[in-house]
Amino acid sequence: MTRIAIVEGDGIGHEVIPVAQKALELLHPEYDYFPVEVGYGRWEQTGCPCADGDISALKTADAILFGAVTTPPMKDYQSIVLRIRKALDLFANMRPVRGDGFDLMIVRENTEGLYSGIEEIGPDRATTLRVVTRRGTERIARAAIRCAQQRQGKLTIGHKANVLKSDVFFRDICIAEAKNAGVTYNDKFIDALSLDILQRPGAYDVIVTTNIFGDILSDVSSYLVGGLGLVPSANIGDRYALFEPVHGSAPDIAGKNTANPVATLRSAAMLLAYLGDNEGSVRLESAISTVLSSGIRTRDIGGSAGTREFGDAIIRVLGKKR
Ligand code: NAD
Repeated sequence: MTRIAIVEGDGIGHEVIPVAQKALELLHPEYDYFPVEVGYGRWEQTGCPCADGDISALKTADAILFGAVTTPPMKDYQSIVLRIRKALDLFANMRPVRGDGFDLMIVRENTEGLYSGIEEIGPDRATTLRVVTRRGTERIARAAIRCAQQRQGKLTIGHKANVLKSDVFFRDICIAEAKNAGVTYNDKFIDALSLDILQRPGAYDVIVTTNIFGDILSDVSSYLVGGLGLVPSANIGDRYALFEPVHGSAPDIAGKNTANPVATLRSAAMLLAYLGDNEGSVRLESAISTVLSSGIRTRDIGGSAGTREFGDAIIRVLGKKR
């Protein structure tokens, strides 16, 4: 039986995940859905944000649907989402951003770079080690190239090789892989790319970049489609896969029934495609488009619908006989 781990996490994770879970349950009542509780809320209650047993439970799932977790800026608190990505070796973070006249896929290396977790804070100096390995770069470059080959066949390498030696290394390995695979490629400094992507999004297809640059670039690109409430992501490794909205736990709006569940619904559609149910994935995507075009929208994109009301509309559309 297909097993789906459901992680609400913190903040608006408790609101957007139930909407997406209902849609999945309607499309696949035969799946086994089981909850896993991790995050800051759990830490506040128990002193442990994520136990080894939670990681083991996640590893029993065929796919994970994840909301968002709060990471307080405290010296000793480790980001749970980073821990999970590393523990499950979810090295490829795929972040699609689609709109009128453009269809981008940001492929972000997800396990090393500036998020290596190798850091220390001293009284007068703090350091974070930016680790870029050959193995890590080759596998993310290959994942991006495979993705480009299934799309328009164009790869852009985003880096800061004019300043960072680790990015000279990253860029050169990506170029070698692209040449080897015979895909069309170019490379751009990440700062220039961040502006160009907003001015000429149609010029790009697949963009591969390191961890923090991909994180920032995908938030920036969400501007093209109406903000963070709309952009999904997949975290894929060789054995496990986790699907989550690009946004965080949004404590400023948590508990108000105003969060936009579209990013999470789209993440659920990516989950279905990953499990081989392309038809279900397209059905869910088209239900989202139908509801949005009918004018039912949450406040962040100019509407007045609540999270639950938007979810009800999705269920109504999905429930109609085709
Ligand atoms: P955020 O993405 O949570 O929120 C940024 C802004 O976008 C906020 O104003 C928020 O209200 C808005 N927003 C986000 N999602 C929305 C939605 N679905 N609908 C409507 N508006 C939405 O980023 P932040 O405020 O920088 O971070 C808040 C917390 O989330 C932090 O603790 C951070 O560490 C964490 N975070 C977690 C993840 C993750 O779990 N993968 C990712 C990013 C941030």
